[in-house]
Amino acid sequence: MAAAFCDQCGRSAEAGGHVRCAVRRELEPPRYCAECARRMVVQVTPMGWTARCSRHGEIFSPEGVC
Ligand SMILES: [Zn+2]
Ligand SMILES: [Zn+2]
Repeated sequence: MAAAFCDQCGRSAEAGGHVRCAVRRELEPPRYCAECARRMVVQVTPMGWTARCSRHGEIFSPEGVC
């Protein structure tokens, strides 16, 4: 399923102009839920990060990030 919103800037993923977002995405956890664009509660952990949407639940940093 394609994301509806950019998880870095919270705008529509189809709007374009997310090149910088994609670069930042490599380094930083998401800030907005890709499904509803709500602001997510982000917690940085020793293993990476977790980001929680009040509606869609928690997502975790991809494995292999070190
Ligand atoms: Zn973006
Ligand atoms: Zn959500």
